[in-house]
Amino acid sequence: MISIDNYIAGEITPPTDGKYLENHNPATGKVYSEVASSSSSDVERAVAAASAAYPLWKNKSREERAAYLKKIASLIERDFEELSKAECIDNGKPIKVCKLVDIPRSQHNLEYFADEILNLNPEKFSKEEAGENTVHYSPLGVVGIISPWNLPLYLFTWKIAPALAAGNTVVAKPSEVTPMTAYLFAKLCIEAGLPPGVLNIVHGLGQNVGDAITSHPQIKAVSFTGSTATGKIVAKKCAESLKKYSLEMGGKNPNIIFADCDFKAALSTTLRSSFANQGQICLCGSRIFVERPIYSKFKDALLEKMKTLRQGDPLDENTSQGAVVSKEHYQKILSCLEVAKTEGGEILAGGGPAKMSGENSNGYFIEPTLIEGLSNNCQTNREEIFGPVATIIPFDDEEEVISMANTSEYGLSGTIWSQDLEKAERVALQIDSGVLWINTWLMRDLRTPFGGMKASGRGREGGLYGLKFFSEMKNICINI
Ligand code: NAD
Repeated sequence: MISIDNYIAGEITPPTDGKYLENHNPATGKVYSEVASSSSSDVERAVAAASAAYPLWKNKSREERAAYLKKIASLIERDFEELSKAECIDNGKPIKVCKLVDIPRSQHNLEYFADEILNLNPEKFSKEEAGENTVHYSPLGVVGIISPWNLPLYLFTWKIAPALAAGNTVVAKPSEVTPMTAYLFAKLCIEAGLPPGVLNIVHGLGQNVGDAITSHPQIKAVSFTGSTATGKIVAKKCAESLKKYSLEMGGKNPNIIFADCDFKAALSTTLRSSFANQGQICLCGSRIFVERPIYSKFKDALLEKMKTLRQGDPLDENTSQGAVVSKEHYQKILSCLEVAKTEGGEILAGGGPAKMSGENSNGYFIEPTLIEGLSNNCQTNREEIFGPVATIIPFDDEEEVISMANTSEYGLSGTIWSQDLEKAERVALQIDSGVLWINTWLMRDLRTPFGGMKASGRGREGGLYGLKFFSEMKNICINI
């Protein structure tokens, strides 16, 4: 059985206490590897290594740092098949999704920030009575990164790439639920010749490793992606030691479908935006609002489309719905379905565990579920489920749907479907979310700010916004 160990000071190394956690394959329910259950002493070692590497790394030119990122990206491309398979087994998501989304995007994250760092230049402001001002960006020092399980390598690299490109050294903690690709990534960093200590990966539980990162006095900033509940803990810990922090958290995103939409496009994208990755993408639309004149037609068509979702072994290239990530998460989703039923929701499709056969019969599979008849304010429509579960709700006009969409404490993303772009943009401007898509979903230009409002986030990632988070600003004013 593979032991997933830490990556500290350039070496793959076991946890100091010698403790490990079981790592399950969600599609079979079986333990298939073990992952280091590290402690604060491992974080201490990682911070020491990162501090020692910092002077060397920050003094490298941007081009030199970018070259390392590009080298690692090229190794991801080389190991595309192996990494896709590893992500599939570790997470339960379909191999097709790993090959189309997770692994290519992980590669692209590194390539993109290797290029974008060259655009982070000093900014000048000149005014006769205020002098000549130049704003310089410099790295912060050692930074901490904490990432979730839903897009394991994708979100891990999305944070590591800007942090390293900006000249910081890093102590990173992947989710203990999906540690495998971060471990393989560590090996690629060694192969690429990344100087020891520049990146350190410490595996283990949030309350041990995560807590040691957020409370460590030498860590200058923490970039976190995960649930809102954990985000609040991270924010408190960071505040105590005056760390900079960025939080990407939960969502309860609306899909708003107007009667004048391109019906076919709205339908096929809504299927994807609600059920892709078993609904375990923070950007998935879990509340589908449909304008009343097309409500019944859209609902019936969506139910028909849902029958085309192929639930099966994630390693099968034809599978479009895999397993959810863990037994705990499986049970959480099932309990949410019970709540929906007691709240009076009518289950139009799915509604429970999916019966699988053979190797997958003990896996964590849940039927794609659509629920009707719930009020906008009920628990099911307020709380994040993060599974293959969506509700469908009719609306009568713009004002009503804007108010319903904004009822949520979350404000991450949303989609709006209408051929009247003026109306769609008017609505988008009134939805309290950080990312809105009109007539599309998950279309991303990595230069744009990414993140949420309200309980979904603090700060923005992406492009220069992400690079500036990982930088200190200094203004030098010359009296001219
Ligand atoms: P989680 O909050 O349970 O865990 C996230 C990370 O935080 C893990 O690495 C975990 O070990 C760590 N952690 C746990 N307790 C900690 C503590 N006390 N101190 C420091 N770190 C700690 O989230 P999850 O279940 O892994 O991920 C799912 C959640 O992530 C969902 O809510 C989803 O919406 C959110 N998410 C948000 C985005 C976004 O961009 N907004 C993207 C992906 C996922």
